[in-house]
Amino acid sequence: MEQKKKTIYCDNAATTRVLPEIAAEVTEILTSSYGNPSGLHSVSREAKEILASSRKRIADVLGCEANEIYFTGGGSEGDNWAIKGACEALSKKGKHIITSKIEHPAVLNTLKALKKQGFEITYLDVYENGIVRVEDLENAMRDDTILVCIMMANNEIGTVQPIKELAAAAKKRGALFFTDAVQAVGHIDVDLRDLGVDMLSFSGHKIHAPKGIGALYIKNGTRIGNLIDGGGQERKKRGGTENVAGAAALARAVEYMCAGEGKAKREEILNIRNTLIDKLLSIPYTRLNGDREKRLPGNLNISFEFIEGESLIMWLDIMGVCASTGSACSTASLDPSHVLLAIGLPHEIAHGSLRLTLDVENTMEQTEEIYAIVKNAVERLRMMSPLYEKVLKGE
Ligand SMILES: *Cc1c(COP(=O)(O)O)cnc(C)c1O
Repeated sequence: MEQKKKTIYCDNAATTRVLPEIAAEVTEILTSSYGNPSGLHSVSREAKEILASSRKRIADVLGCEANEIYFTGGGSEGDNWAIKGACEALSKKGKHIITSKIEHPAVLNTLKALKKQGFEITYLDVYENGIVRVEDLENAMRDDTILVCIMMANNEIGTVQPIKELAAAAKKRGALFFTDAVQAVGHIDVDLRDLGVDMLSFSGHKIHAPKGIGALYIKNGTRIGNLIDGGGQERKKRGGTENVAGAAALARAVEYMCAGEGKAKREEILNIRNTLIDKLLSIPYTRLNGDREKRLPGNLNISFEFIEGESLIMWLDIMGVCASTGSACSTASLDPSHVLLAIGLPHEIAHGSLRLTLDVENTMEQTEEIYAIVKNAVERLRMMSPLYEKVLKGE
């Protein structure tokens, strides 16, 4: 029997594998410490202690108070809550919000919903390198600006924004600053004592914890509406019996990725990524999308002219490489990724993009194989392109 090819997983920005020790801890809590944290008996108290210690462990790593960490159902929920909650609390003060053109749909579509309710949104440019300019934010700030939301690191092109400077510019004019840090936490340093943001969201499944758990940091004293009215959970702001096992998993993942073994591997991931970028850029008619230096250590986003991203992804999948593209299929529309368009790529080049996102389980040995597979796929797909044929003929 033919042996199945081993999968090389390079789609960690989409989701990550749950670490075996985290999965084991989740099982242990689900079966042994299953109490409702609101109860009074011993099984409940055990769950309550796990919840409290998980909150404290996350706060210690990120540099805030335990009561500033609110558990959520993930990144999208944190994004919705921060934005809608802030607007609910501050709409009497003003109705202007500033964001960037490359936010995650959880932010962009939340803002779209608010626009229908009468809020006005300004979208900051990110230029060719995929980075917001602080002076653009300063110029866009108005007296009625209540909220600025700019992501810390982009999920498609990996560019990292100058959050500390942006937050300072927003605070100077009295607006709240929220950052979606789902791709940043665990991959680059995030120190809440230093950043100066009012709210920050992150998600478990992007850092080796399960899907469906995340957290929103809300600085003490920040005015924000409730997310779910219900029982007294999460300081009465997000009702519902807590996901205790998820909270413990998130704490373990944050420790692992922000302070432990995962953090220790960042340098190695960066080296693997850089090696791969150099190899792939040696293929002709190819470009790197997003700033080369100011990007997440594991992110690689490259456009290959004359091919379709979907076809490339399917080809790579057959060869055992899991990757993604900013081409149309992933967006369920005919337009390619809004991020690639925002950095100025023409449609046809945006359609030929490949995103590889590397993490703690990728190795340097994989780079030669990934390169060979991508090169072969690109060459074969280009042979089917009439445009490429013309280029070869020098037309
Ligand atoms: C994945 C992601 C989200 C959504 O997080 P979920 O936990 O899947 O809801 C939000 N923002 C960014 C930047 C992401 O990468």
